[in-house]
Amino acid sequence: MNLDYPVCLRLQDRPVTVVGAGVVATGRIEQLLLAGAKLHVIAPEASAFVRDAAGRGELRWSQRRAAVFDVATPGIVFIAITEDPSDLVRAARAAGAILNVADVPEHCDFTLPSVGRDGPITVAVSTSGQGPAVARRLRQDFTATVSRHHHHLLRLVQFLRRRAPAGPTRMAFIRDVVDGEVGERLLAGDRRGAFQSLRRRLAPSRQDTPAHSLRPGSVTLVGAGPGAADLLTLRALKALKAADVVVTDRLVGDDILALIPPTARVIYAGKKGGGVSVPQDQTNALLIDAARAGHRVVRLKGGDPFVFGRGGEEALALAAAGIDVDVVPGLTAGVAAAALADIPVTHRGRSRSVLFATAVSDRGLVDAKMLAAADTLVLYMAGQQLPQLTHDLILAGRAADTPAAVVEAGSLPGQRVIVGTLATIAALAADAAVGSPALTVVGDVVLVREELARLRAEALASRHGAHTPAAAEHFLATTVDDLRTPHNTATAG
Ligand code: SAH
Repeated sequence: MNLDYPVCLRLQDRPVTVVGAGVVATGRIEQLLLAGAKLHVIAPEASAFVRDAAGRGELRWSQRRAAVFDVATPGIVFIAITEDPSDLVRAARAAGAILNVADVPEHCDFTLPSVGRDGPITVAVSTSGQGPAVARRLRQDFTATVSRHHHHLLRLVQFLRRRAPAGPTRMAFIRDVVDGEVGERLLAGDRRGAFQSLRRRLAPSRQDTPAHSLRPGSVTLVGAGPGAADLLTLRALKALKAADVVVTDRLVGDDILALIPPTARVIYAGKKGGGVSVPQDQTNALLIDAARAGHRVVRLKGGDPFVFGRGGEEALALAAAGIDVDVVPGLTAGVAAAALADIPVTHRGRSRSVLFATAVSDRGLVDAKMLAAADTLVLYMAGQQLPQLTHDLILAGRAADTPAAVVEAGSLPGQRVIVGTLATIAALAADAAVGSPALTVVGDVVLVREELARLRAEALASRHGAHTPAAAEHFLATTVDDLRTPHNTATAG
């Protein structure tokens, strides 16, 4: 005996021919309509169900005896009549029809299992023709075990399928969810527990593993720090090494891009001080597409992604699109470039508050009164606006002789530091032709840089034997400018 080979046919809008419209045929017609088939029923008389369905236009009913031409089709044909079907069977066979003849198994290309339904869940049982009554009994038992929990599980799977691109990874993940703890809890009616367990599965990097691991189909916003490659965090480096696609800002330098493996694709987006910029929604769309294609996407940004980097906007856009998004923080220039210029942004006795601000916003210049109130003010992207801003700050009440510094290309080979006061810094920066990137620090903390330089110089002087005050004074006068941290070239002060 050969075993039945079960399939589930997708019959939506497919032509299907049914000869007969009695009790047996009607049973088939009901199921075929549920499947959305385009039905042609041929029978001189029909059950009330078939007549009504025809009246509603749900099927086409030819009210006559079937002729051989009706079944001469390579499509699916059901014959369920009491008369001898031999002529019809021969014609259908000759045309290559796929045939089911009620009660004549030897004429059947396919048989019909016993079917139970519960929403989209279909239970079909066959005994390979050996005992349809047993199939029916089994089908009833199986259908009765389908509960609303199965429907919850089904809805969850549909949700997960919408979140990730099709592929073996998604398949394996979904199977894991259904067979694992999530499925178990859901089937036990514990929806809350299932939800919690799913959350753990979806965000393992946040809760279970402190070390970062990139998941296919996710985006990781990575801060690249102020510029020098060795100021990347270990986690940022790890993310770069694991990425398939890296979407980078112009602010990120070649030394860092060189760490990306050659197998990864590097795409430029974002802007470099006034240069051509890719519109934000285009960048968002690019990230979403790359993630949906199943890549491990890194969005690389200068400094910290969430400090004047539009990282927050990107995270929201990605989350709204149903894409997993993680953040790897970076050293923000406002802290790092200042530190590299020997300026601590807070300092006991000098500054107990720092305000990070950008000179430009989509609403024009920022409110100078508010900026004047902080002990230390760190201005990002201040280039063109520096004369106006410093002027406004003085007008807003900040003392004109407040120390101020501009740090250009912090941590990069061309790093420069210009020191002056609120009154002089804009002109000094212009004279020195300061370019981008550069940031401005305003506040007494700038004096720490000078103090450090002096102490370093004194230490050096005493090491060189200049022990009398006069000798030290002479030594300092001649060498102090060379003694700032090696890569800091002070030009004014
Ligand atoms: N997300 C970045 C800031 C981006 S806005 C961060 O957290 O650092 C760009 C501005 O950052 C520049 O205009 C400049 O003011 C500042 N900046 C970035 N890198 C810098 C660097 N190496 N040296 C000085 N300023 C820098």
